[in-house]
Amino acid sequence: MKSTKLIGLFLPLTCLLWSGPSQRVAAQQRIDAARSSVRDGYLASASEDGSLREVIDKKYKKRYQEWKNEFLSTEIGRAQWEVYSHHPHLTLTITVVPGNSHGAGSGKYKWNAAGELIAATIVLGPEINEGFPSAVYYPVMNALRPYESSNLLNGNVLAATKLAHEIGHVMKISTTPETLYRLQMRLVPAYNKIFLSNGYDVNDTRLVEMSKQMGGNPVEIWEDREYWGEANAMLFLRDRVARESFHCKLFNRIKRTVEEYAKNYEARFTEIAKSQGVIYSCSWK
Ligand SMILES: [Zn+2]
Repeated sequence: MKSTKLIGLFLPLTCLLWSGPSQRVAAQQRIDAARSSVRDGYLASASEDGSLREVIDKKYKKRYQEWKNEFLSTEIGRAQWEVYSHHPHLTLTITVVPGNSHGAGSGKYKWNAAGELIAATIVLGPEINEGFPSAVYYPVMNALRPYESSNLLNGNVLAATKLAHEIGHVMKISTTPETLYRLQMRLVPAYNKIFLSNGYDVNDTRLVEMSKQMGGNPVEIWEDREYWGEANAMLFLRDRVARESFHCKLFNRIKRTVEEYAKNYEARFTEIAKSQGVIYSCSWK
């Protein structure tokens, strides 16, 4: 386990980029507030069949529309939007709320009796067009940094990439059994409590047993989820920069970062690289 990743032990299981503990609580409150607003009916603008709900305050509408347009400028973005606009059982809510302004999160998952995911909420900060998360867990989003500073890609591309990352979380959770998700939510805090009190001994038999039960230690669970988010972010970028002269340079940067920090998860990124010749024709082989 890389020492740089130990901090992941104390991260929650929902994705909230760059959030500290107080911000995470605030983010949860914002999700609750957004839901209340939906009930009150003054912020909601629902799509036709209601399976994709955009709950956007009028002061954020212009920027949100720009982010959404950027996401929908790609084939993969349009395809994913279509899936959630006409999903048979999942209601996906997307909202913009202040607080963690450069970050985003997903959560409020609900399953039905048949084990199908029926609700999820993506919360976007009001300035997600700015701010680059660490390369350790976010090799795709972080790779955009040089292109924004050189004005080759604007902030809307970064915002749309963050949206794609969150949609990646929702996609992965929709294939995760509720029982496993609940077990992880219950065991991760218990694991962390022991870990903090046993001298950081991951070989503690209690921790080994808990890891077995929940399918990995908290770091492994966290990074697996984050890299699924990043895999979808990469799918979006694959389409978005395909015709840009610098696309090989950008994807080579992602490749190097994945090799450095996410070697165990390289396959899912390589799979995406192979799925379109334009990336595969770079040095990603
Ligand atoms: Zn995430």
